[in-house]
Amino acid sequence: MSIFLADEQATVAFGQTLAKYCPSGLTIYLYGDLGAGKTTLVRGFIQSFLPGTKVKSPTYTLVEDYELASSKKNPNKLNHVYHFDLYRLGDPEELEYLGGRDYFSDDAVCLIEWPQRGEGWLSEPDLELTLTYHPDGRLIELKGHTNKGNDFVNKLSAAI
Ligand code: ADP
Ligand code: MG
Repeated sequence: MSIFLADEQATVAFGQTLAKYCPSGLTIYLYGDLGAGKTTLVRGFIQSFLPGTKVKSPTYTLVEDYELASSKKNPNKLNHVYHFDLYRLGDPEELEYLGGRDYFSDDAVCLIEWPQRGEGWLSEPDLELTLTYHPDGRLIELKGHTNKGNDFVNKLSAAI
């Protein structure tokens, strides 16, 4: 499934729609060049649970944990959104600093920018999103990789 996003607000809104239908335990890879809109989409996703929360790419820390347990806007059993940005990852060994924590668990959703750099360490994706430049905005392509991911894409396409 491919969707046209006319402007930044459309990308934010699409992130919010994703959040609305996203089941807990999902791993989402986000592909796209610098400036394609990955972080913008993640911002919409996170702010749909935590309005007003600042969302920046965790470029140096590699991952940011957003705790949702206290959010009234969270009807699922989703307790954490982990936002990864592996762009700066030089050496896969750096990923060991991220150890000791179960990011890919049933009560979390992982949104991962630059997953190419974390290959072998990351959990396999349920869903891959690819943002590309378009003369009038952006295109986003959705590709399910697991039953869970495909169900989610079907639900989304019926909702949009
Ligand atoms: P990335 O995380 O992929 O590097 P960012 O989300 O940080 O990209 O930046 C995306 C830039 O593109 C921002 O300046 C944002 O305003 C803009 N943008 C986001 N979505 C769209 C869109 N659909 N059309 C045009 N510009 C967009
Ligand atoms: Mg980014």
